[in-house]
Amino acid sequence: MSIFKRPRFSQGFAGQLYFVFLSLLGCSTFLLVHQGEIFHYTPSQWVWVYAMLGAALILNYFTFQLPPEGNLQSMDSSVYLACIFIYGAPFALSVILFVSLAMALYDRKIPFWKHFVNFSVYTVMIVGSSFIFKMAGGQAGPIHNDQFGAYVAALVVYFVINVFLVGFYYYLLYKGSLYDILKTFMKDTLLVYLSTLILSLVLSILIVHNGVFGLTLFIGLSVMLSYSFKQLFTMYKQVQEKAIKDQRTGLYNHSYFENLLEDEIKKAKTNETPLSLAMIDIDDFKKYNDQFGHLKGDMLLGFLGNYLKVESETAEVVASRFGGEEFTILMPGYDDHKARSFINRLRKKLNDTYFDGVEIFPSGCLSFSAGVASYRIDIHDKSQLVELADQALYYAKKQGKNNVHVYGSGAEKESEIDFAEDVRDIEQQLKLFLYKDVDTFKHSKRVFRYAMDISEVLGLDSVERRNFVLGALIHDIGKLEIPWGILNKRDKLTAGEWETVKRHVSWGKRIAETNEKFKELVPYIELHHERYDGGGYPHGFKGSQIPKLCRMLTIIDSFDAMTTERPYQQTKTFEEGIEELLRCSGTQFDPELVELFIRYLRLKAEAQQQPAAGLETS
Ligand code: GH3
Ligand code: MG
Ligand code: MG
Repeated sequence: MSIFKRPRFSQGFAGQLYFVFLSLLGCSTFLLVHQGEIFHYTPSQWVWVYAMLGAALILNYFTFQLPPEGNLQSMDSSVYLACIFIYGAPFALSVILFVSLAMALYDRKIPFWKHFVNFSVYTVMIVGSSFIFKMAGGQAGPIHNDQFGAYVAALVVYFVINVFLVGFYYYLLYKGSLYDILKTFMKDTLLVYLSTLILSLVLSILIVHNGVFGLTLFIGLSVMLSYSFKQLFTMYKQVQEKAIKDQRTGLYNHSYFENLLEDEIKKAKTNETPLSLAMIDIDDFKKYNDQFGHLKGDMLLGFLGNYLKVESETAEVVASRFGGEEFTILMPGYDDHKARSFINRLRKKLNDTYFDGVEIFPSGCLSFSAGVASYRIDIHDKSQLVELADQALYYAKKQGKNNVHVYGSGAEKESEIDFAEDVRDIEQQLKLFLYKDVDTFKHSKRVFRYAMDISEVLGLDSVERRNFVLGALIHDIGKLEIPWGILNKRDKLTAGEWETVKRHVSWGKRIAETNEKFKELVPYIELHHERYDGGGYPHGFKGSQIPKLCRMLTIIDSFDAMTTERPYQQTKTFEEGIEELLRCSGTQFDPELVELFIRYLRLKAEAQQQPAAGLETS
């Protein structure tokens, strides 16, 4: 493996020094071991030098790539090892000398000194390997079964020197952990080197028994193998491309984005570099679909995908299709300021870009809203950054669309997100309970008020607060589907009736899903009967599988149900309710949240008692 068959990078001073060292080491080793053997070759020896030179050059030309990274590999090392095994180190050095000269003449794009460093690395590998070969009892000549240990030892040393010399260079460049770098190199090349050993032994046997004919057979086979590997790698690349790209837009797909985001967050954390994420959502795309049909809508998505791809490639950021008509742009190295101005430029340019039918959009042009969130030290999980960008996007939409909002850039404004209208909407629907089950209506409103208080205690941001509070209000909406007789039954429910009641979470989910505005509330409706220990319904989720605020809602919901008076149900006092919460803490309820809720209840009770006490004494 050559140092220069890897991706390009700037060398740096340490790298250059290392090259000088390698060159000196390679040169002196060559002179010491080779000792001008070249001047004493017989004509038949020259024939073999040329033959091996030709073989190495052909194998060098017919390289192959291995998944996943596709580093170029060539099988020329099997020739050098065969030279060591049959003719000894000086002969192998003659071959590598001529190979290097030929490569320098042939591949002039690579500066001469780089060929020289390569030559030096190979020289050290050949000399080291042949030294061990001899130490392990190996003798140059025909292949002997009893020398197998020596062959293996020679290959191991050849391999280790290669990994170490090249790996150390990468260590100087990237300053990562030397151990990790060496491990990666070993993993990359172990299989190649194992086959190299087998190939070198096969080649040696062929040469010893069949001379040039054997060598030709070997090369023919290697070239065909290299060709097949190339085909295989091309196929692999095509499949890989399909797996990470979204067919409609040509952008990266959601799963690629998730992986990339995880990597970039790790990098931002380790290197303390900025990282920003934009969530982009096309404005009023549904209108376009409704007007022109899905096919035309798809074309618009393709057009936008291409637009984002071209723009993001020039800015060295990565655009992906998040899903539907939503896109992400991941911007490594961008702080929130730079990210906002980039996304804003993108937005304005899109406003000025024509696409067939854009007149039907309310703004008369193509537009998107975008939320930008930047990496902060307290972000540990990729979903947190997505969530923040999503909240910023939500705010941008609320601001009237066609704009970019950076998360946290207007905290006071964000907290103003007005959900009074949504509350009215939900109340309107809940009013149906008034004729069917007035208690559920009242219960929902009380739970809603608790949720308002708790969102203060938890310090929720505006979007979380909206969803939590509305979720609390709407959580029992599915009960509307429960037949009147069961809903108002005063006797104990039968097992069948109980099963019907349990289905209210799924019915509620379906009701909420019909309204775009309430989609985010679905978890509250669906999961408020899950239990912390996994014994709840409908899924039997456990602990942190249940979102934190849903776990909170379960506590509020249960506490209210226990402590409110209902004609056919035993009611607990305030203290009994608290006791019950504590009794079920850790099984039905999240213990930390129970503690928090009880603290809140006590503080509230104290605050309520104080003015009353004051009245009594006055
Ligand atoms: P807003 O400005 O609030 O984002 O409104 P909107 O109409 O863009 O958003 P909404 O979420 O109401 O509708 C998104 C639409 O995107 C609905 C869905 O049919 C459409 N859509 C999602 N994926 C595709 C797709 O692959 N092709 C087509 N043609 N339409 C899609
Ligand atoms: Mg959308
Ligand atoms: Mg949209």
